[in-house]
Amino acid sequence: MKIPPVGHVTLSKAVAGRLSASLLEGTIKAGDQLPSERELIQQLEVSRATLREALKAMEENNLIEARAGVGWFACKLDAETIAAARELAGSYRSSGMKPVAPAGDPPDGPRRLPASPDKPIHIPNLKTDRLGTFEFISWWEKDKVRDAKVLVVGAGALGNEVMKNLSLMGVGHLFVIDFDTVEAANLSRSVLFRDGDSKRGKAEVVAARAKQLNPQLHVQYLHGNVTTQLGLGIIRRMDAVIGCMDNREARLAVNRFCYWMNKPWVDGAIQELLGLMRVFVPGRGACFECTLTESARRDLSMRYSCPLLARANILLGKVPTTPTIASIIGGMQAQEALKLIHNMPVEAGKVVHFNGLTNDMHTSAYVPREDCESHWVYGEVTELPARADQTTLAEMLRIARQDLGPEAVIELDQELILSLTCPQCNTREEVLRPLESVTFEAGHCPTCGTLRETEMTHEITGAESFLHRTLGSIGVPPLHILRARNASEFRFYELTGDLPEALHFRHFEGSAAAAAVPLRDRISIGEEIEPAEKPKSRIVLHEENLR
Ligand SMILES: [Zn+2]
Ligand SMILES: [Zn+2]
Repeated sequence: MKIPPVGHVTLSKAVAGRLSASLLEGTIKAGDQLPSERELIQQLEVSRATLREALKAMEENNLIEARAGVGWFACKLDAETIAAARELAGSYRSSGMKPVAPAGDPPDGPRRLPASPDKPIHIPNLKTDRLGTFEFISWWEKDKVRDAKVLVVGAGALGNEVMKNLSLMGVGHLFVIDFDTVEAANLSRSVLFRDGDSKRGKAEVVAARAKQLNPQLHVQYLHGNVTTQLGLGIIRRMDAVIGCMDNREARLAVNRFCYWMNKPWVDGAIQELLGLMRVFVPGRGACFECTLTESARRDLSMRYSCPLLARANILLGKVPTTPTIASIIGGMQAQEALKLIHNMPVEAGKVVHFNGLTNDMHTSAYVPREDCESHWVYGEVTELPARADQTTLAEMLRIARQDLGPEAVIELDQELILSLTCPQCNTREEVLRPLESVTFEAGHCPTCGTLRETEMTHEITGAESFLHRTLGSIGVPPLHILRARNASEFRFYELTGDLPEALHFRHFEGSAAAAAVPLRDRISIGEEIEPAEKPKSRIVLHEENLR
């Protein structure tokens, strides 16, 4: 082993060493474009002259190459260049320079579309190819954009802008969810809504119009609530999630789901002429929950003391917005999604604030919280040929107990209301519905009007009297991933039998077009579950912060 000499190391050598270390670690891969000079200067906190000197040293060692008018690209490493990179990296370590946030994702970061290092030269026909002009963008990879799957949560003012932009850019598979319906007041800020859309589901309308804007793409909508009705298996199959929500509870739910599934998500929020945009990447910096203030946390914990009232309050307090700020923030969100699709660097855990009154824009970083409850990622998921509307609680428990032993329980993501009891009339009504689907009004006694006491659970232990019920009947959505555990480990089971219906991207397509969309991972329904064929590896989860 070569011991680097003691003594003075120039800053440019340290910078070359830092970048060489990234090449060796694989955070910058062969064919990857390096971040722009400006970004590198910011990240490394060095001058332009120092950076240029460092890049020149790396070029001389055949570690990177310049492409005229485009930027710097990482070369393929061989024995000789690896040795050179190691030597440079040694000077970085001996300089005592602290590592900075890597330009790309860490090797254990979220799975992305594979990099295609050499962009083939292709001259588009602008008369026939609607996406042709994008090919003049140096880093644009049309196959990645066409194959990408993006989930848009919320189809209000922001969701309209995001869906419009993603369809114009040809992002090939768009899934949109919203529980709301179109009303007249939405028409002033939602580019995809029309006069006659009143009372139609927002998600459906937005998906239909996106398909009209660009018939080449594949869309799917879900008229429902993201916190209770979206199976985790849908998020599991996405490349990016864009949040266009207007309340904290929905954001918190999306944040947790994305963390569990190890997916990046882009949040946007608007009010009058103010807006913010932020990207959260599991394991990299703060998540949405980390950003909450103490009082916000207290509000959230209130739902456990009076859950039905808390639910009722969430939907109050609509904020006024303008179509202009929706364009600005929605445009930024769509751009971030495009970067994620291309595996380009994003500023995870940071927020961009835009003030339209002063045109002031600034970025700041959130501090990740050590004790944040959202920071854990699901382990290996077992795909079962099971379906939410057919599989019973007893059957699910039996499967979990084959793997985890007789003490295994199923943890529900939503609180399940078992019963409502009136203290006045002494009457008890069995409910068996998730908390989110029981309104504040329904919580009152039909006889005397008193707010009834709720009996809730979030675990299925096997002692229940309703084990014969299906998962769907107690609110588990199709294609969901259930979480089972014993005292020491978790297991994760996907209701993969729901896949063909729950995730198809074939809304508003004719039958011929529908047949042309291949469904990956299709499995037959009602197949016998063979325990021997299931993965045997045991995953022990620790609820600890990921770095
Ligand atoms: Zn967090
Ligand atoms: Zn009563």
